[in-house]
Amino acid sequence: MAPRKLAAGNWKMNGDLAALAEIDALVAAHPAPGCEVLICPPAVLLHPMKARVDGGAIALGGQDCHAKASGAHTGDIAAAQLKGVGASYVILGHSERRADHGETDAVVAAKAAAAHAAGLTAIICVGETEAQRDREETLTVIASQLDGSIPEGATAANTVIAYEPVWAIGTGRTPTNDQIAEVHALMRERLAGKVGDASQVRLLYGGSVKPDNAAQIFALPHVDGALVGGASLKAADFGRIIAAL
Ligand code: PEP
Repeated sequence: MAPRKLAAGNWKMNGDLAALAEIDALVAAHPAPGCEVLICPPAVLLHPMKARVDGGAIALGGQDCHAKASGAHTGDIAAAQLKGVGASYVILGHSERRADHGETDAVVAAKAAAAHAAGLTAIICVGETEAQRDREETLTVIASQLDGSIPEGATAANTVIAYEPVWAIGTGRTPTNDQIAEVHALMRERLAGKVGDASQVRLLYGGSVKPDNAAQIFALPHVDGALVGGASLKAADFGRIIAAL
């Protein structure tokens, strides 16, 4: 059986208390969505957001966590702290963190192990740059990022993989259907032997997913949902993407 589809919203460094109204609208419009719905807001909004979604169908996640459980790491957040305010997921290795904070595959794997230890599901992001795609290195890059970023102990229950071509994030550009399908097939194959039952690991596509292209992307083989940035900020847009899954 195919795994349950997941629509995950990454609010990045956007939103404030007033933006919680979007969550209220989303909850009201989708009381029983046909897929799993996740919002990953800035960490400061997790606690107030939890009160809005409690008991409902929307799950919450962080956008990063530290590899250590606690200690002298100013500005960082531990996986258990995310869990403590209501998160059940955490995005790790997003290309913006890899670029802005120099996160390597090894760092991502250590963070994912910490997330698992705290009982969070890790959404591990991989993706090629435009230069890598132009050099026809996409499949090699994705295979290598998967090998390096997935920790021991990863399972279909505690790990989701998001394929996010760096050049498609926030640009309005998307790969062709064939390009997405090619990478997702490679990921499914690469996960075999690494992650228990690889057929059950949810593989998300991310990068300029919008209400108008969601259905076409979701119809592709091995696409089990989406990681959505800009279009997750407004309940109306994200709602249309949820409905397409
Ligand atoms: C993202 O940041 O994970 C993302 C996919 O952004 P966008 O949907 O805005 O391209």
